[in-house]
Amino acid sequence: MTADIIPHTSIEAHQPSWQEELAAAIRNPAELLERLEINPTQLDASPVAQQAWSLRVPLPYVQRMKKGDIDDPLLKQVLPLGAEMLTAPGFSSDPLGEEDANPIPGVVHKYHGRALLIISPACAIHCRYCFRRHFPYEDNTLGRKEWQTALDYLARDESISEVIYSGGDPLAANDNFLLWITEQIAAIPHIKRLRIHTRLPLVIPSRIDPGCLHWMTATRLKVVMVWHINHPNEIDQAVSQAAQRLKRHGIELLNQSVLLHQINDSSATLVALSEQLFETGIMPYYIHRLDKVAGAAHFNVSDAKIQQLQRELLTLLPGYLVPKFVYEQAAAPSKQPLSLLIKADS
Ligand SMILES: *Cc1c(COP(=O)(O)O)cnc(C)c1O
Ligand code: SF4
Repeated sequence: MTADIIPHTSIEAHQPSWQEELAAAIRNPAELLERLEINPTQLDASPVAQQAWSLRVPLPYVQRMKKGDIDDPLLKQVLPLGAEMLTAPGFSSDPLGEEDANPIPGVVHKYHGRALLIISPACAIHCRYCFRRHFPYEDNTLGRKEWQTALDYLARDESISEVIYSGGDPLAANDNFLLWITEQIAAIPHIKRLRIHTRLPLVIPSRIDPGCLHWMTATRLKVVMVWHINHPNEIDQAVSQAAQRLKRHGIELLNQSVLLHQINDSSATLVALSEQLFETGIMPYYIHRLDKVAGAAHFNVSDAKIQQLQRELLTLLPGYLVPKFVYEQAAAPSKQPLSLLIKADS
C-alpha cells in the first residue's frame, strides 16, 4: 500500500485516500455495533465466527446502514454470527472445485475463452456468504516472476480472448501493479477484453481515482467492470458518482448479486435494486444462487422461492432489467441457468 505518498496540504480540506479508508475499515464487531447504536445482546454476534473469518467493513459502507436496525440488509452481509458455526449437508469449503481448476498459481481457467486472474488476495469488505472464505489464498500471492508464468500461460492459449481480474478484490492491488499487469496483458494479441470483478468501488467509492482511471483507459483492451451489489440501500450518491466517472471514461458497467435469505429475497427489493442500478448506469447481469460454502447455510434461499422470484421479476420489470438467474456447478463449462436446475430437481 502506498498511503504515505498522498500529499497532505490542508488538514481541513483533506479527503481521505482510498488506502486510508481501507486502513480505517472497522474490524471489531463491538465497535461496529456501538456505531450503529445496537445493543450486542440483541444479536448472536460470535467471537468464534469472528476468529474464523474476521469482520472487515469500510466506513463509507457502514454509513449506509440504518442505526438501531438489527435487520439492516448491509449489516447482515458483514457481521460474524453464531449461525456460521453450524454445519449443513451439502455445504463444503471448496464448493466450486476451484482448487482443481487452478493449473498455475494465480490463474483459474474453467470456461472457454475466459481466464480469471487472482490479482489480489485481499478484500476491502468481508462478506459472510463468500465462497472464497476458505480459498487457499497464500498459495496465490505471486511475485513478478510467478506473474510471468501466469502471463506465459495466457499468451500460449490463443482461445483466451478475455481476462478477468478477480481475487479477493483486484482493486485492493495498487495502481502501479495494475498498470504493469494490464500492459503485459494488452501485449498479448489474442486478448480483447479485460473484465474487473470488484466490490471496492461500492464500499470505498474514492477507489475510482485518477490513478485507477489511468490504467483502465491507457489500454487498447475493452474494459468491463462487474460490480457486486445485493441491495438498493448499498447505492448512495458517492457510489453513483464513482459509476459516472467510470462511464465517462467508456467503461461498461454490469452488476452481479447473490440471493441472500432475508436480505434481498423479495421481488420488491430486487425490482428496486434493478431500477436503482439502471439509474446509476449499471446494467443487471447475474443473480447467483448462493454457493454452498460451509458457514453460509443460513443465507440460503430455497429453489422454489428462487423460481417464484424469477417469475415475479419477469412480470414486474422490462426484460433488460431482469438479471440472469444462475448457479455455479463444479466442473460445468459455464454458469448454469437456474430454470434448468429446477426442472432437473423436480
Ligand atoms: C464466473 C466465472 C467466469 C465468468 O463467467 P461469465 O459467464 O462469462 O460471466 C469465468 N471464470 C470463472 C472461473 C468464473 O467463476
Ligand atoms: S471476494 Fe467479493 S464477495 Fe468475497 S469477501 Fe471479497 S468482496 Fe466479498
